[in-house]
Amino acid sequence: MTTCANLEKLSVKEAMKAEHIGKKVKLNGWVRTRRDSKAGFSFFELNDGSSMKSVQVLAPNDLSNYESELLHAGIGCSIEVEGEIVESPGKGQATEVKATCVNVLGGCDPASYPLQKKGTSFEFLRTIAHLRPRTNSFGAVARVRNEICKSIHNFFQERGFIYVHTPIITGSDCEGAGQMFKVTTLDLNKPPLKEGTKSGEINFEEDFFGKATNLTVSGQLSGECYATALTNIYTFGPTFRAENSNTSRHLAEFWMVEPEMSFCNLEGNMEVAEAFLKHIFRDVLNNCEDDMKFFAERIDKTVLDTLTHIVNSDFVRLSYTEAVDKLLKSGQKFEFPVEWGIDLQSEHERYLTEQVFKKPVIVYDYPRGIKAFYMKLNEDEKTVRAMDVLVPGVGEIIGGSQREERLEVLETRMKESGLNPEEYWWYLDLRRYGTVPHAGFGLGLERTVQFVTGMANIRDVIPFPRTPKSAEF
Ligand code: ATP
Ligand code: MN
Repeated sequence: MTTCANLEKLSVKEAMKAEHIGKKVKLNGWVRTRRDSKAGFSFFELNDGSSMKSVQVLAPNDLSNYESELLHAGIGCSIEVEGEIVESPGKGQATEVKATCVNVLGGCDPASYPLQKKGTSFEFLRTIAHLRPRTNSFGAVARVRNEICKSIHNFFQERGFIYVHTPIITGSDCEGAGQMFKVTTLDLNKPPLKEGTKSGEINFEEDFFGKATNLTVSGQLSGECYATALTNIYTFGPTFRAENSNTSRHLAEFWMVEPEMSFCNLEGNMEVAEAFLKHIFRDVLNNCEDDMKFFAERIDKTVLDTLTHIVNSDFVRLSYTEAVDKLLKSGQKFEFPVEWGIDLQSEHERYLTEQVFKKPVIVYDYPRGIKAFYMKLNEDEKTVRAMDVLVPGVGEIIGGSQREERLEVLETRMKESGLNPEEYWWYLDLRRYGTVPHAGFGLGLERTVQFVTGMANIRDVIPFPRTPKSAEF
């Protein structure tokens, strides 16, 4: 270790800009490769995650630790570099760094380091999720995911929506449809039982919260409480579903954005959803150029064209009944046969977006029997004011609806869904006191990242995926 001069620090991303040529700076990062030239110096490719590209560091052999340290420093080592940013003679980069001091901060044994230079499969990288952010692909996913989150907040903040934090532990089941993770401090080996019950039902009155609780599947019901006071709100946080579906589009823990808008109907809801997605795609196209170029070259050739096309065209709007009609008339053989009343399967959704329209499709007015109790009943009494936004490759990316604001209808729909209205007394109060037409939707963050990047598996767009039988790291 030698002592460097402690110059002004720059990120690798900054150091690659021509405007800094001539500056003497300090850089930190991890070595991607080292190459030794016969002319008496070594080249380090240095990356610190601030950009897809690595900066080239030229280390002359007259550095005091050149032979003792630098000639042993390779892939995975962390180093500090001081030197001058100079114009690069090489193609494809504006600058390089002529080092005056290089220190190895953390060594890395290349023989045992799991990340080798050669391309490794995404399956393998899932087994080393703690190291995969050091690869080009996962660095790019992390930066694009970050850009999408920034864009989500900007979109709503620019429009005056209030960011509301809804609880993660809930005592209510939003969808009325199981598949929740229980939250309990009871001793699972010896749970307290209700007195006088034959089958030995668990007595949750003795549990931490004095009732059975779960991890949230959606912040919507809490969101509605705030929307019916603050008009336009959104929640954005982790969501949990214990659905045992091992697909490339489902996680047990994922992030969801849920705007909720008072004085808004289904049309208004669709308009916001479309503007919202376009806003996100535009931001990614404008601000993640290098990362998106990487995805277009390495993952999915079509991503850039698809996003550009979507930003500049209108989404298709199609009622469920029309969608079923299109599917029936398609002559296509589906694994799940189509008839009015079925829930659209991924294969149907993808057929509509990929074969028929080749762009996002908003399907609305679904049969009441397959949708949640809180969706507004249409006059036909057969359908509800639901909408799903479907995109090519991914299928459903947004699910939303206009909410039922009429107390009696809502109570009837609850009972129909096997829910006890008394347990939802606070939710029904929103209809008792100053009820208003309102609407909202949920956008899955990971499905958005998948769509934007073209990554095939949802496990590869969240840092540490939680899926059935898998919660390592
Ligand atoms: P799907 O039919 O695809 O399972 P859903 O109808 O259960 O979705 P909603 O309850 O409407 O979905 O949730 C809103 C959004 O949250 C979805 O459009 C999707 O983007 C996302 N989402 C839902 N479930 C998951 C999951 N298990 N993993 C990742 N994202 C999800
Ligand atoms: Mn689902």
